[in-house]
Amino acid sequence: MEKLQNWMTALRRDLHKHAEPGWFEFRTSSLIAERLSELGYAVMTGREIIEESAVMGRDENSIPEQTDRALKQGARKEWIDRMNGFPGVLGILDTGKPGPVISLRFDIDAVEVNEVKDEKHRPFKEGFSSVNPGAMHSCGHDGHTAMGLGLAEVLVNKKETLKGIIKLIFQPAEEGVRGAKAIVEKGILDDSDYFLAIHLGMGFPTGKVVGGSSGFLCTTKFDVEYHGRSAHAGAAPNEGHNALLAAANAALNMHAIAPHRDGVSRINVGILKAGEGRNVIPPNALLKAETRGETETIATYMFKRASTIAKSSASMYEVEFRIYKKGESITTASDEELVDIVVETASRMDDFNEVEKSAELGGSDDAAWMMKRVQEKGGKATYIMLGADITAGHHNEYFDFDETALLKGVKLLSQVIGELLSNH
Ligand SMILES: [Zn+2]
Ligand SMILES: [Zn+2]
Repeated sequence: MEKLQNWMTALRRDLHKHAEPGWFEFRTSSLIAERLSELGYAVMTGREIIEESAVMGRDENSIPEQTDRALKQGARKEWIDRMNGFPGVLGILDTGKPGPVISLRFDIDAVEVNEVKDEKHRPFKEGFSSVNPGAMHSCGHDGHTAMGLGLAEVLVNKKETLKGIIKLIFQPAEEGVRGAKAIVEKGILDDSDYFLAIHLGMGFPTGKVVGGSSGFLCTTKFDVEYHGRSAHAGAAPNEGHNALLAAANAALNMHAIAPHRDGVSRINVGILKAGEGRNVIPPNALLKAETRGETETIATYMFKRASTIAKSSASMYEVEFRIYKKGESITTASDEELVDIVVETASRMDDFNEVEKSAELGGSDDAAWMMKRVQEKGGKATYIMLGADITAGHHNEYFDFDETALLKGVKLLSQVIGELLSNH
């Protein structure tokens, strides 16, 4: 177990150093695929597990550059070729004995954040901070990937005691809720009796675990582009059509949408880029935003109001506008029956000193698409929150987590699987 802890820590640090944002996890996927096939799993990747028509927010133009980078950083060419532009890996362990299908989701992508270069930040101090600009594992998905591969090994070592089929899903592009739906639409989860997702940190300390989650917010991620007309700011301002002002007007008014009486709503304009030069009427602007809601009705309300504002701001300044959906997720809840099994299992383990039944997620995770599909097909699903001390909030440039949580997570998942099989 100590060996496994060290192995996962080293792997997590290697992944942290080579952080890859959503849909660019080529090195990460190559490494996962390689390890799973070494362990004897049936391995699928690329379009074998991704339904292209349901892919959201993938920057197609950057794929050649990103695969080149991944190859330079140690990805294996045969896996890159098999991915053919679509990262993500499925490892299947078929015990050959009748039994349930248990699927687990591990997300593998980094956040689009520049990691801080500060001696106070352990990854920087110890030389494993991200070498890829604009990409940082500031949500802990490097840890999730390490746990997934750690679990893969533990399961193989006790294969004789297992039955049924275990599917380990290594999902790309969770950030911005872009990747899960494409895997769901491929039908990979349709035969699952049980589904487990796990997230470390989440504001809970090392040694605590929460068996289930509620309060997943429905969310839409979208870009708005404005195209106006440039003109000399001194000589002919009247000839310009100012895209910057349209976007700025949209940003301010989106943040003034009335909250919904029936529950939680959110809006954030996270990026606004516009303009070309000080003395030029700005011809182009790009706004990246997201809306959220506790229910589908509230989420639809927020996105509809935001779209109206985006459109009306364009007409105010006589510029053209386009709106693109870049990601979408839904609300869901954990199944009590499965939550109880996780809670009872964790309570018997020395690794945890505090076990809670359920907590609010307070955000979104596109594992919700997977949970919903499994539930629709008659299976049970839960989203576990694994306590891990963190040095800063998720997505912060100073984020780091307590690596001792990794082994606790693997032991928990392995024991929950054992429990599910003995109950079945
Ligand atoms: Zn995140
Ligand atoms: Zn996350």
